[in-house]
Amino acid sequence: MVKIESISSHILRVPLEQDKVFYSSQAKFTERNSYLVRIETDTGLIGWGEGGQYGPAEPVAAIVDHVFAQKLLGRDPTQPVVIWEELYAFSRDFGQKGTYIEAISAIDIALWDISGQVAGLPVCKMLGGAFRGKVKAYATGCYYPEKFDDMSGVLEKLRKDVSGYRESGFDMLKVKIGLLDVHADAERLRVIREHVGPDVDIMVDANHAYSASTAIQMGRLMAPYNIRFFEEPVVPEDKEGYRRVRADNPVPVAGGETEFTRFGFHDFISGGCVDIVQPDLGVCGGFTAFTQILAIATVHGVLVVPHVWGSGIAVAAALQAIAIIPPTPHTANPIPLQNEPVVEFDRTHNSLRDDLLNEKFTLEDCYVRVPQTRGLGVTVNMDVLKRYEVKW
Ligand SMILES: [Mg+2]
Repeated sequence: MVKIESISSHILRVPLEQDKVFYSSQAKFTERNSYLVRIETDTGLIGWGEGGQYGPAEPVAAIVDHVFAQKLLGRDPTQPVVIWEELYAFSRDFGQKGTYIEAISAIDIALWDISGQVAGLPVCKMLGGAFRGKVKAYATGCYYPEKFDDMSGVLEKLRKDVSGYRESGFDMLKVKIGLLDVHADAERLRVIREHVGPDVDIMVDANHAYSASTAIQMGRLMAPYNIRFFEEPVVPEDKEGYRRVRADNPVPVAGGETEFTRFGFHDFISGGCVDIVQPDLGVCGGFTAFTQILAIATVHGVLVVPHVWGSGIAVAAALQAIAIIPPTPHTANPIPLQNEPVVEFDRTHNSLRDDLLNEKFTLEDCYVRVPQTRGLGVTVNMDVLKRYEVKW
């Protein structure tokens, strides 16, 4: 039997140069950071996982190193579901959402990576098989610049950003909204639609900046610009607000990047909150939770489009997960965004996404290939890891 021999946490941090700093409706981004876990077996196999995409990485590292590691050393890594249930049951009384689940997510991704390597299969085949070998990618960008109160500068930068995504090969964009008043943000969307023409899909993400009534107003203002989905209109706790926005605004509603486990997603999905649900592999509970969330979503006819905001390991995990999502509904000729999942490609500057792996994810005619080797199908460049790793 293969055994877990060592577990190590790695906190990576890349400060952004002044001209690469950007804003969402909630935060100024002056750096990118990732939490990675490395699990090694007594046979020399190495699995990688990533957890906790939004907050500081140190609490996730502390839970993995000081709470969970001692429970895992010497265990068989090829039973991630068993280990998931044990870790969750242990931390249920104090960790049903948040940092504990992010730690479980990282461990779960690494264990599935190892299990795939032991079996000689990619994670998607370990989970039942791939509906697709490549996934259509959308560019996440169009953030706000430092001087976001200068509207002519904002619009000029938007046109430049959008032209860059188009030249890189994307025909799907996600635009940040919610930092300015609804009329100014609607004007940003009008300008983008005018700039790209009718054939590019545009989605928006408010990062829960609005009350339900403001979100409904925004949805009505932007509907003429043919918006495919409206992400995180209201705060994640406000399920009644989600239902109101979904009922009274014409744009399909998406959300779920800050929801956790099958329990949280059951309430969110069966509560009628969204048309498109967006679990993040490093937050929701890894592949084990993802398969359960997928089952709940398919029962309710909700399309699953995983959220991705992290290093190359997070992108690799998302691609394996997206491969196993059945078309919703299952049709003879599935249409991207209508009944096919897509993958989020954050376009802000992040060396942890672009340089950390020995393998690169490239866009080929708007699509990214799902690695078909073993486990996650990627390896970490240790020189790059050491360059960005910080002590804690
Ligand atoms: Mg988002």
